[in-house]
Amino acid sequence: MKKYLVILLFLPAILSYAQEEKDPSVQFAETITAHDLRAHLMFLSDDLMEGRNTGERGQHMAGLYIETQFRRLGLTGPETTDYYHQQFKMARSEVKSMEIGFGKKDFSYKKDFFSFGAHGLPARLSGDFVFGGYGIVSEDYNNLEGLDIQDKIAVVFAGSPKEESDNMRKRISGWFGRAKNFQAAGAKAMMMILPKDAYSRMVPYASRSSLVTISADSKTFPVFYLSEEMGEALLGTAKASSEELKDQLAVSPKPADLDFKKMKFSYKGDVENEEVNSSNVVGYLEGTDKKDEVLIITAHYDHVGMRKGEIYNGADDDGSGTSTVLELAEAFSLAAQNGYRPRRSILFMTVSGEEIGLVGSEFYVEHPIFPLENTIADLNIDMIGRTDPDYEGTADEGNYVYVIGADKLSSDLHAMHEAVNAKYANIKLDYRYNDEKDPNRYYYRSDHYNFAKKNIPIIFYFTGSHADYHKPTDTVEKIEFGKMTKIARLVFHTAWELANQEERPKVDKETGK
Ligand SMILES: [Zn+2]
Repeated sequence: MKKYLVILLFLPAILSYAQEEKDPSVQFAETITAHDLRAHLMFLSDDLMEGRNTGERGQHMAGLYIETQFRRLGLTGPETTDYYHQQFKMARSEVKSMEIGFGKKDFSYKKDFFSFGAHGLPARLSGDFVFGGYGIVSEDYNNLEGLDIQDKIAVVFAGSPKEESDNMRKRISGWFGRAKNFQAAGAKAMMMILPKDAYSRMVPYASRSSLVTISADSKTFPVFYLSEEMGEALLGTAKASSEELKDQLAVSPKPADLDFKKMKFSYKGDVENEEVNSSNVVGYLEGTDKKDEVLIITAHYDHVGMRKGEIYNGADDDGSGTSTVLELAEAFSLAAQNGYRPRRSILFMTVSGEEIGLVGSEFYVEHPIFPLENTIADLNIDMIGRTDPDYEGTADEGNYVYVIGADKLSSDLHAMHEAVNAKYANIKLDYRYNDEKDPNRYYYRSDHYNFAKKNIPIIFYFTGSHADYHKPTDTVEKIEFGKMTKIARLVFHTAWELANQEERPKVDKETGK
């Protein structure tokens, strides 16, 4: 009542005051603070969280914390979920022992071969073998074309032929992708021969106890990674050697027709399987006039757990992203409570299972809570709390972010995010990892990629890798909350624009799938 009077009497004064009034998005961005980010992260990366390994106690505790925050903020759990949790089941396989034999020669687990249980580990395995080249399926180089793969165990090389075209390089999938090629073609299992360095680099990740999602629509597919020696022994049973096979594959994608029939293959697996539960934690803020369209903001709250009694706290990976999602959720909730509810709905989602193969986000896009065609974009935050060696000691140390994927599907999204940065944040946007040819392939390595595969425009925010990456030393006291706050506010302004602008970003490119 009082205000009304004032307006009548001092209208000109009020008008000039209104012009000076802060852009509301700035007002709510400022609720994202280093203090609050630190508070969340101190909890999430505490030793008590036991490294937040998917399916284990620490992950469930972290999930409960996130749920509690979403409840406190007044976000709702979408009706189709089990109160803030999108549950999915996984199977834990523990390899007690495993042996593979070719003829008279026996090979043992980890020394000669390993598997990421994420593919499923069988107690029994038998069948004919087929040589599948590199397992590459692309327009101008296809190893699987015309190959009889049905019910066979495919033997392949990691890597690619020496002369690779740009188009092929783009289409070369990682190891998991090649496994999927063979699975789709009806194979029973895949054995991939690794170069020495790759084998020794990856064997520590072959956890004795690993997880695979189980749902009606996802079948397990065992994949074994063989040492060079074991690979050579296997090819030797068909009187072939990797060197000559690779020479042939450089000339033609058609794999040599190797005869493994005389080989005596034996497989003994003592594997224990147990069912475990995991979840993506979701907090939903309904929009106004465009509420059927949904913006998703993601980070993964799982990490790699404990190894040999050491806790991998995962403060940067991805406690930093998880804390940021919580702060973004708070900023948008406060805005909604103060008359600035976004036009589009926003789903804040911290996923699990990222570290074991982007499992939670894959589960989401296969079982979306909101129709994917109404999902306008995904903003994904994974590791924004540190400075990588390239920026250490430079002028931009405290003011940069790697931006990946913004232009891959939508020119609109890219242009908008640059404009938003220029207007509100002025952070140095570094696109080096957005390059198709970048060997790190970060674009394919975090949860946004599952959305991009479904043609949903994405932006991935990242401050780079560092010496503590996937080490017990990725701890909270090394996090740079000042820079993290700036990046979180940039994500906020971008999300604000996405949620409120008239048109959703148009998908006008194909390069990101
Ligand atoms: Zn991560």
